[in-house]
Amino acid sequence: MSRRNDRMKASDVFREKEFIFTRKVSFDEAFPEIEKIVIEVEERGDGVNLSGFCDSRRIYKNPNLPGEYIDCSNPLCYSGGVRIGSIIHEMVRARSTERVGSTSFCQGYEGSPKGRRRYRKCTNSFKVKVSITYKEKAFTKTSN
Ligand SMILES: [Zn+2]
Repeated sequence: MSRRNDRMKASDVFREKEFIFTRKVSFDEAFPEIEKIVIEVEERGDGVNLSGFCDSRRIYKNPNLPGEYIDCSNPLCYSGGVRIGSIIHEMVRARSTERVGSTSFCQGYEGSPKGRRRYRKCTNSFKVKVSITYKEKAFTKTSN
């Protein structure tokens, strides 16, 4: 799949680097205890939308989830995005149902299309909110 600017985003780099090491599993296989998940991402910065507004909100629900990373919208950014896979893993381990993350900056950088030269760090930022509903039988006890 070719992109408008040919710069790979975090999910592309992740796919390319880790595909050979880890077997990709579906979301349900990875998190069988999750009934429902809603991921709300607020991104600010360059390229967020083309009509000139400087922030946007994206909402993802299972089964249509973005995968390990939410990609950055900055067209100059290489390997950009924010990792949500680890956030979900942490939440599931702690059985948390709601997490409002602090704003975190994009992990990518602005550089040449193949990413060999770095010009500056990407300044786009993401705020991630996650709500999880667990399957009943996964609970050892329920509140009601
Ligand atoms: Zn970025």
